[in-house]
Amino acid sequence: MIRRPPVILAYHGLARVARTDDPTSLMVPPEEFVAHVRRLKRLGYRFVHQRELARRLTAGESLAGLCSLTFDDGSVDNVEVLPGLLDELDVPATVFVCPGLLGRPYPWLPGHLGIRLMDRDELLTVAANPRFEIGSHTNEHMLLGDATEEEAYAEMRSSRERLEDLLGREVVSFAYPKGLYSPACPPAARRAGYTSAVTTGMRGHWRPFALQRESPDALDGPVTFYLKVGGVFRRVRDRAVVRLVRDVTRPVRHRAARASSAAAQHDARLAPAPRRYPAPNRLGDPR
Ligand SMILES: [Zn+2]
Repeated sequence: MIRRPPVILAYHGLARVARTDDPTSLMVPPEEFVAHVRRLKRLGYRFVHQRELARRLTAGESLAGLCSLTFDDGSVDNVEVLPGLLDELDVPATVFVCPGLLGRPYPWLPGHLGIRLMDRDELLTVAANPRFEIGSHTNEHMLLGDATEEEAYAEMRSSRERLEDLLGREVVSFAYPKGLYSPACPPAARRAGYTSAVTTGMRGHWRPFALQRESPDALDGPVTFYLKVGGVFRRVRDRAVVRLVRDVTRPVRHRAARASSAAAQHDARLAPAPRRYPAPNRLGDPR
C-alpha cells in the first residue's frame, strides 16, 4: 500500500473463543491483534489516540499513515490482556465504555465463557495508564439509530459527565453502539462536548461525528485485512474477486479456528463463574 490512508480499527475483546460461541466475531485472538498492528507498522503507520486523530482532522492536518486502535464495550481483557500487548507493540488505544454497565457479564457472549465487562476499579486502572484514552459508549449501550437530537444529546452528555466524574478527566470521544446513529446524532455529539464520534459497519465517512471504522474479523486473512485497511473492502465487498478470496481462504481459517476452539473451551471451563447481576436494560445487539 503506497497511499497509507488513515484507518480507525474497531475491536471489542481479545480472547480465543469458539466461533459457535461468538458468531459475530466480537472476540479476536490476542495474537491476531498483534499481527494486525505489526502489519500496519511494517507499512509505516503511526498510532494515535482517537482524540488526537480527531484533533488533526478538525485542524485540517494530514491524516495519512495514521491509525487509531479502538475497543468497544470494555471487556475485562481490556485490562488483563491489552495493556501488556500495547506495551509490547508500543502503541496507544482508545476504549469506549458504558458507565452504567461496569462489572456486568459481557451481554453478547454466552455466560459459560465467563467474560465480563471491566468493573469500576479496573476501569480506573486502565484510565491511569497513559497508553489508554477512555471514551463513552452511552450509559447502557443505548442504540441511537432512531434518536431525536434531544434524546441523543441527553444520552451522550449524561454518559460523558458520568465518566468524567468517575475518571476525573475530560472525555471527548464517543462510539455509537452497534455503529448506529440517526441524522440528529452528529450535531448532538458536537453539542454534548465531544470532538469525534465513531461508527462501524459500512456506515460513516471522514467527518468528525460519524467517522468510519473497519472491524478486523477473527478469521481475516492478510488479504482481507489489507483490503479493509485500505478502505477497499467496503467498496468491493460483494464483488466477485473478494468473494473468491473469502471463499478460498475461509475453509483453511475455519479449520484453524476449530483446532483452537478445543483449547478455548478448555480455558473456558477453567474460567471463574460469571458474577451475577440483574439483566441490563435497553441493550442493543452486539457491536
Ligand atoms: Zn458496543
